[in-house]
Amino acid sequence: LGPRRAAEIRALIRDVPDYPHPPVVFRDITPLLADGPALADVVEAFARLHLPDAAGRVLDGEIDVVAGMEARGFLLGAPLATRLGVGFLPLRKAGKLPPPVERVDYDLEYGSAAIELRTGTLRPGARVLLIDDVLATGGTARAAADLVERSGGHVMALAFLMELSGLGGRDRLAGRTVESLLRVG
Ligand code: AMP
Repeated sequence: LGPRRAAEIRALIRDVPDYPHPPVVFRDITPLLADGPALADVVEAFARLHLPDAAGRVLDGEIDVVAGMEARGFLLGAPLATRLGVGFLPLRKAGKLPPPVERVDYDLEYGSAAIELRTGTLRPGARVLLIDDVLATGGTARAAADLVERSGGHVMALAFLMELSGLGGRDRLAGRTVESLLRVG
C-alpha cells in the first residue's frame, strides 16, 4: 500500500475507546470489510509478498496454505488464499472442532484461551502463512505459530492488517517474518 492508500484504509478502521473494557481501544475493521476496493487492495498487498515479482522473486516466500485465526483472520485469510491459489485452514477457538484436534493453550491479558486445529489437516512440511486482523501483545499469533509447527507445518510469515506497535507483539514473535500493512502506536 502506498502512504495515501494506507491512510484511506486506516480511515476505514473504526477506533472504539474502552471496548470491551478500559483502556482497550478496539479496532473495528467492519467498515473496511464492507468497502470492496479497500478489501481488494488489502488482500492484494498481502498477496504481493508471496507471489513472484517481475524478476521472478518472491519476497517473503512461497506459500502452500493460508491459516487464519478465528474469527477475523478468516475474513482476510480466505480471500488471500484464493488470490494465492492455495487452500485455507481455520485455526479455531477451543471447543468448536470435533476430535481429534491439536491444541495450544496461551495466556491473555485477563485469563487464558486455547486454539485448535484438526489433527491431520496440515500436510507435513507445508509452508504456512498465518493471518489475523490485529497484532496486539502477540500472544495469539505466537500460539497460532506453535500450533502450526506442532502440527508439522512451517510458518513462513505472519500477516496482520494492523500492528499496535506499543504492545510488544513484534518482540514476542522475534525471529519470525512479521508483515503488517498499518502500524499505530
Ligand atoms: P494479542 O494476542 O494480544 O496479540 O491479540 C490479538 C488478538 O486479539 C487478535 O485475534 C485480534 O483480533 C484481537 N485483538 C487484540 N487487541 C485488539 C484491538 N485493540 N482491537 C481489535 N482486536 C484486537
